[in-house]
Amino acid sequence: MSFHALGLEPRLLEGVSAMGYTDPTPIQTQAIPQVLAGRDIVGVAQTGTGKTAAFVLPMLQRTSTRTGVRSLIVTPTRELALQISEVIREASRRTGHRYAVVYGGVGIQPQIQKLRRGVDIVVACPGRLLDLHSRGAVDLSRVETLVLDEADRMLDMGFWPDVSRILGLLPERRQNLLFSATMSPGVLKVVESTLHEPVRIEVSPPATPVERIGQTLYPVCRTQKTDLLVELLKRQGNTRTLVFTRTKHRADRLSRQLERKGLPTAAIHGGRSQAQRQRALDAFKAGRSPVLVATDVVARGIDVDQISHVINYDMPNTAEDYVHRIGRTARAGASGSAISFLSAEEVEVLRDIERTLGSTLACEDLEGFRYAERHVPDPERVVSHAGARASAGAGAGGPRNGSRRSGRRGGKGRASRRS
Ligand code: AMP
Repeated sequence: MSFHALGLEPRLLEGVSAMGYTDPTPIQTQAIPQVLAGRDIVGVAQTGTGKTAAFVLPMLQRTSTRTGVRSLIVTPTRELALQISEVIREASRRTGHRYAVVYGGVGIQPQIQKLRRGVDIVVACPGRLLDLHSRGAVDLSRVETLVLDEADRMLDMGFWPDVSRILGLLPERRQNLLFSATMSPGVLKVVESTLHEPVRIEVSPPATPVERIGQTLYPVCRTQKTDLLVELLKRQGNTRTLVFTRTKHRADRLSRQLERKGLPTAAIHGGRSQAQRQRALDAFKAGRSPVLVATDVVARGIDVDQISHVINYDMPNTAEDYVHRIGRTARAGASGSAISFLSAEEVEVLRDIERTLGSTLACEDLEGFRYAERHVPDPERVVSHAGARASAGAGAGGPRNGSRRSGRRGGKGRASRRS
């Protein structure tokens, strides 16, 4: 199937080839003809599936120019807003569409001026859009197509009251496209109350995207996490690695520690300004900082190809966050690997994660690393190569180079699926 066969006009096909896409992804194949036909859509799809182009391309084709704001895309984070606007920029090279991207945390005046000059499409985070509307800077009364991107995230982040107010500002007759990584009861309620006979398109049932990602646990005690990470990063060489910590404080501290060890590192989290986040992402994308330390708040917005490794320096709080974190690697068909450091304090969330995945994660040791006393997650699973059960901690290793621990314990390299 080609983009042409999906019904896209030549001027959009030019944008598609400029973006370097040759074949549509499954969500694009399914969504584009339906959006062109004017249908409402529920897309159950994670980031990484090509969902952004799946709505941007047909939306551009249906959006008239120079007649006021006709299309509105509402999204939870600034990073996502920027990422979507980037796809619009590329795809609209030949179409003449004008767009504005609006989000909080930066000056409002440039956004007001941009809107005043006239735009056809607005990409927005909910709070700032309402602010702009209350100042009379944007007229939403002629919107024909609404996109709610990452609806589950907007609900999780408590944006729904704002989104509801935005819906109240739009004409009742309009096309609605809703995308969400998960179909939680909250999202279903929104679908029922907002969409009109939607076509449901599901390209990645929750377990699918993680299957391409090699997942491994590295049991390690809390105090050795940094040493283990440094050792791993040095062995990996110059590959693009995304490291997750539990808090922004830990992200800052870890990135300073890595820098001191001679590993160029950038950090991105909710406590950083928009400009700082963008600088960090740019340095990571350009390879100036091959390591990016991040927290969950910003995980969804990290749209960087060729992330070969995701390392959970701290385990996430929920299984859902785990799936989102590791989904940053193995983008657009590539393969990737996810390593999770697991200290004794973090075993509980591992059980949730494994229940969600329906599989058990393999445990590995880093060959030659000198481990201190620590606990491994599941005595039944981990059979020490020496025949002893490993639940009481792996014990102290010998000197760094002398320790000949087994490279792998109790598992295959990948997650093994339970029947
Ligand atoms: P998304 O799910 O929209 O965040 O897209 C994930 C990544 O896939 C982005 O880096 C896109 O540039 C890339 N992508 C989207 N559609 C295609 C396609 N048809 N062919 C190749 N790459 C694509």
